[in-house]
Amino acid sequence: MSKLLAAKGLSLQGRFAVRMVDTWTPMFDCSDAEKNRRDTEAAEPEIDTVIGQIKAKAVGEFNRHKGFSLISSMVQKEYEGKRATKYFSVQESCVGCGLCAKQCPMEAITMQNGKPTWTKEKCALCLGCLHRCPKFAIQYAGKTEGRGQFVNPNTTL
Ligand code: SF4
Ligand code: SF4
Repeated sequence: MSKLLAAKGLSLQGRFAVRMVDTWTPMFDCSDAEKNRRDTEAAEPEIDTVIGQIKAKAVGEFNRHKGFSLISSMVQKEYEGKRATKYFSVQESCVGCGLCAKQCPMEAITMQNGKPTWTKEKCALCLGCLHRCPKFAIQYAGKTEGRGQFVNPNTTL
């Protein structure tokens, strides 16, 4: 973000981070519902702190999770290579509800013959389709089936 802003002659005044459930299940496991609940609850006071700092127009480095930022920048190159939609698969349990196609922020999925089909070569790899599927029928690169689904209960999408 800092680099993108700098290219426009702008600078980031404050940097904040909140630790939440990591739903990137090609790498992380979010199959423990109780742990997800605890982590989501623990994020609330952190969010309140960040809201207070933003309202107060705080300037500076307030990221208390620098380790995650470091990992994030390290895996950036790998992420670019993994964004190919050819890695998605749909299991027999799909009931053709179309929710995945409807909610994809990149309009990368269309329903064809009652099944989701990825019509763009690359997507954001947000995994929203995988986590919101009511049948957990979408998998990615054969790595996600045992790692659960999670949608933050505070979201309304
Ligand atoms: S959300 Fe799941 S069940 Fe519904 S169409 Fe997509 S893959 Fe099939
Ligand atoms: S991972 Fe996200 S961007 Fe990619 S197809 Fe699924 S919902 Fe769309």
